[in-house]
Amino acid sequence: MKPHLKALLRSALFLKCGRCESGPLFKSYLKFHDHCPTCDLDYSITDTADGPAFFVGFIAMILFCPAFIMIAFLFETTLAIIIAYIIISLLCLGFCLGLLPIFKAALFNLQIHHQAGDCDFDSTGTHGTPSENWKKYLKTKG
Ligand SMILES: [Zn+2]
Repeated sequence: MKPHLKALLRSALFLKCGRCESGPLFKSYLKFHDHCPTCDLDYSITDTADGPAFFVGFIAMILFCPAFIMIAFLFETTLAIIIAYIIISLLCLGFCLGLLPIFKAALFNLQIHHQAGDCDFDSTGTHGTPSENWKKYLKTKG
């Protein structure tokens, strides 16, 4: 049975496996374990690629670009502008580094939920059926 979408996103928030909701996903900052220590889910079955970086970067751009633009108009002295740019840049960096593992876990758990596979343009008309990668996984798990 597939886990509920809310449970998937909650487990992503705490960087946990989307299937058992208790096993840790990462062994270091953005590096996945080989498999879930709790439910033995093979983490190599999906790949989030650069999706998390895209979403986090896009959100950071929307949130921080107005601040970067406003700095030039809010401060008059060069030193104040430089200090404000440094502060906003550090906030932006912290924001991105903080959200990146959460978004990576969320995309990973969503791929687990939807049994997402690599793009295969030769398989038109098979919407809703698991990809070859998932078929192999489902056979081994029974
Ligand atoms: Zn697990």
